[in-house]
Amino acid sequence: QHAVPHASVEKLVAKVARGETRDAPGGHVDYAAYREGGGYALLRACIAGQHDVEQVIGTLESSGLRGLGGAGFPLGRKWRIVRNEAGPRLMAINIDEGEPGTFKDRVYLEGDPHRFLEGALIAAWAVGIEAIYIYLRDEYHGCRSMLEAELEQLRADPPVQGMPPIILRRGAGAYICGEESAMIESIEGKRGMPRLRPPYVAQVGLFGRPTLEHNFESLHWVREILERGGDWFAGFGRNGRRGLRSFSVSGRVKQPGVKLAPAGITIVELIEEFCGGMQDGHEFYAYLPGGASGGILPASMGDIPLDFDTLQPYGCFIGSAAVVVLSNHDSATAAARNTLAFFKDESCGQCTPCRNGTAKALDIIRKPVWDVPLLGELSQVMRDASICGLGQAAPNPFDCVIKYFPHELAQPVTNPLVQP
Ligand code: SF4
Repeated sequence: QHAVPHASVEKLVAKVARGETRDAPGGHVDYAAYREGGGYALLRACIAGQHDVEQVIGTLESSGLRGLGGAGFPLGRKWRIVRNEAGPRLMAINIDEGEPGTFKDRVYLEGDPHRFLEGALIAAWAVGIEAIYIYLRDEYHGCRSMLEAELEQLRADPPVQGMPPIILRRGAGAYICGEESAMIESIEGKRGMPRLRPPYVAQVGLFGRPTLEHNFESLHWVREILERGGDWFAGFGRNGRRGLRSFSVSGRVKQPGVKLAPAGITIVELIEEFCGGMQDGHEFYAYLPGGASGGILPASMGDIPLDFDTLQPYGCFIGSAAVVVLSNHDSATAAARNTLAFFKDESCGQCTPCRNGTAKALDIIRKPVWDVPLLGELSQVMRDASICGLGQAAPNPFDCVIKYFPHELAQPVTNPLVQP
């Protein structure tokens, strides 16, 4: 159940674990190699009418594949919704990967760029997409030059006739542009600020058209699932959950990195089975299950299955599966200060609960003694009245400290090394 499903990813992850560069020429599966390995045959078969759209969407639905950028919306259902909207329809692919601690998309992209491109072209065929926009994180310079070169190869020798244009756009370093509607504003050349919904981007998205918006990794799995069957993907999983998740693990473990593991694995299992255990001299103390925004949990709650929906009862979420492991040398209070400072900087400033709420809450939690009732009120108004997920999730870390780490508040952290 722990096997990495395809060899290219397995080799790449091993390479990353050895600390070898991933930007070296020839370090990825290029267009020729991808086609030699059977790449784009599935797309050609779809276009040739050997597969039926209903059957393809049905297979993806049976796999249980959900959006892997954080929201977890079922992929097959999204295809149906956009397909039912009047054309022309567009696609936007999110490779902004700005959530602190997340680096899975980069690892997969650097190893096997055509796998997600084939997934995108199959989606374009199934949904009836006229143009594909890729939004790539500006900091991924190596990825951009590699992807530009691979797209040139694809255009020069297209695997199918009538391929929709694929347009590569650079982000500009704003965390908020990972939010789907802010990304769309940014692609349109405007300031990246989230839109009010409804209407949803599936109805009124890029340039006012119905838009299929996907995270990179969601499309990365399309080919493999269609070739192996929905049951293959759904057959992984633990603790009642289904599928595979790519965890970006960082922090005090011996072997951090991208860990492809069963959905529903617990943090204790992930550390022991996939990360070589804790670093010497460190005891497992706490973890951030979903990057900066997914909250902080203590080691005593290390038996919760990590997946969409499983962490909500605890005020947390898995998001894009960026897991940060803290030890007895760290403090949850310091982590909360650090993440809230990040949200304050990255708030787009459009709505008052988020713009003022992050600043006010940061002032409070930087003090040695927290005004817990005031933080409770701030948290509530931020959750209720912020336009987008940034403001709604920003209170998660300090709410978790209040709920799960009261001992830290009773003994304020004074070590300057752990104060942001
Ligand atoms: Fe901008 Fe924050 Fe409001 Fe989102 S919640 S729209 S980031 S100000």
